[in-house]
Amino acid sequence: MQIQFTPSPNYRAGRKGRKIIAIVNHITAGLMPGTLSWLRNPQAQASAHYLVTKTGAVYQMVKDEDTAWHAGIVNKPNWPLYDGNNPNYYTLGIEHEALAGEALSEAQYQASLELHRQLVQEWGITVDQNHIIGHYRIDSINRKNDPGPGFPWDRLFNDLKNKPGLQALPIDILVANQLIKGVLIDNQSYAPVRALAESLGRQVKWDGILKTVFIPPVSVQVPAAVDGTVRIATGNIIISGQLLGNQAYAPVRKLAEALGRQVIWDEKTKTVSIK
Ligand SMILES: [Zn+2]
Repeated sequence: MQIQFTPSPNYRAGRKGRKIIAIVNHITAGLMPGTLSWLRNPQAQASAHYLVTKTGAVYQMVKDEDTAWHAGIVNKPNWPLYDGNNPNYYTLGIEHEALAGEALSEAQYQASLELHRQLVQEWGITVDQNHIIGHYRIDSINRKNDPGPGFPWDRLFNDLKNKPGLQALPIDILVANQLIKGVLIDNQSYAPVRALAESLGRQVKWDGILKTVFIPPVSVQVPAAVDGTVRIATGNIIISGQLLGNQAYAPVRKLAEALGRQVIWDEKTKTVSIK
């Protein structure tokens, strides 16, 4: 990929002997070209290794081997790999040109994905929710929306793991004479949780902190959320789902059975019936 080197004076040479173990994703909360010049301005006392713009351009301001100043202030962290030392020494920082709450553009997402792939490969970074994180995991108070709700964690992890996550084929799901549109992912059929539960007369509550859809009654304790996951809790069961276009989807069979129903798959018509 093409990376333009536009050096920033805001860095420390070397990494105090530390190895790079994680990538920290950010949004700039500012737009080009101002956001790039700010990260190169000595007054900013801030930088990142990379900046990915809305048009999909990638700038590098600090070499990977050096310490950029992107995540040095630790404030109520929620990151098990934080070891008491300044996270800048053992992380790479990627800024994304976006205003608060904004989603990435498609060109920007593709460029960021390619950059992630390259860095994961080059530095042997594990693809999971503790090694590819958002700034808010280090400062959960002043950076709680960095990179914010518009950041495509599910898609990024799916793509980095080479899952065909979003190449979903449409399927029909028949529930009590209602037709619900589902999707086939990795040969498994998924249903939109709310539509399915409501068509069975059940209520649905979304908990944005636990990233969990609750279908009461729920008797199981739901553990804290991690990036890139969504869960469905009902009775004493927790099911892993997928977030597609901001909607929670669950494997149809697991969800229907957890709700006490049976599932019949018709291969010919690609229809799932729930009895
Ligand atoms: Zn940040």
